[in-house]
Amino acid sequence: MRAAVLEEHGEPLSIEDVDAPDPTPEGAIVEVEACGVCRSDWHGWQGDWGWLGLETEPGQILGHEPAGRVVAVGEDVEGVAEGDHVAVPFNLGDGTCPQCQRGHSNTCENVMPLGFIEDAQGAFAEQLHVPVADHNLVTLPDGVSSVDMAGLGCRFMTSFHALAHRADIGAGDWVAIHGCGGVGLSAVHIADALGGNVVAVDLKDEKLEKARELGAVETVNAEETANVPGEVKAITDGGAGVAMDALGIETTSQNSVMSLETRGQHIQVGLTTQDEQGMVHLPTDAMVMGEIEFIGSLGMPPTRYDEIFRMVATGKLEPEEVVSETIGLEDVSDKLDAMTDFETVGIPVIDTFD
Ligand SMILES: [Zn+2]
Ligand SMILES: [Zn+2]
Repeated sequence: MRAAVLEEHGEPLSIEDVDAPDPTPEGAIVEVEACGVCRSDWHGWQGDWGWLGLETEPGQILGHEPAGRVVAVGEDVEGVAEGDHVAVPFNLGDGTCPQCQRGHSNTCENVMPLGFIEDAQGAFAEQLHVPVADHNLVTLPDGVSSVDMAGLGCRFMTSFHALAHRADIGAGDWVAIHGCGGVGLSAVHIADALGGNVVAVDLKDEKLEKARELGAVETVNAEETANVPGEVKAITDGGAGVAMDALGIETTSQNSVMSLETRGQHIQVGLTTQDEQGMVHLPTDAMVMGEIEFIGSLGMPPTRYDEIFRMVATGKLEPEEVVSETIGLEDVSDKLDAMTDFETVGIPVIDTFD
């Protein structure tokens, strides 16, 4: 089968023929119909996240936002069958640990991040193997295409879990989204759908324009603004009730915390880069004085995907609005390269693999 294989960090992926996977007894093979290209792939391509034990090795196939058809299942699989139209979550769980059993398989004790480890080869390929298929595969409802699902990707799932489950957004609450890449733009759209008044923050006007289209009522260009938290506080008359760092660099994390009102909630969704290596300085005393909450949020348990599907089916969420273009497998390296300088707007989705 065709696959885009990592040879060296930061170098173009090698498009080559590799052996197609065979299912383990509990696994399934999915023929990929669409897969989003996202900033997490860029981190994997750069060789980031060694501090999380997730530094990719040569030979890795990236790609963690697939949807497609089941083409083979292992002998112990009962819940899915050949021909099923499925999404593959990016945090694959083992299905048996206490976290999985309590419905939190996004924080599985033996989590297998799709496309980052040898045992979970990714979806920049014609087919991929999904371990523990009964637990991990999500059947797509009618009306959600593979490209729709790839458009939802990890960004909608991550943003939805963060805003709908982890944060407490009330009607008309100010919500500040720092960083308007894929996850940030999705967060703008979701926060708006949940009743928040959204302030979007980014360095680029074209991304802020897209944020307005997706529901932001105010925007702040962080390149032209000396004091971003001060500007958010001025717009919101005292600070946002909920603020999200959707990027994962020190500046956006700090700006998010400092843009909050008293008892505001900061949601950290972005994982950090080589510059921070997981450590960010925070205004601790101000957080104590203001009873600020710092909340981490990771992905979304697949058992709750149906909440998003219902909002997509009724038109409250429109994932296709975040998809910028459909591309072929051979175009992935160029898209990753463009992400280095934050030049992509919205999400490219691969829909051609041969
Ligand atoms: Zn588990
Ligand atoms: Zn992703």
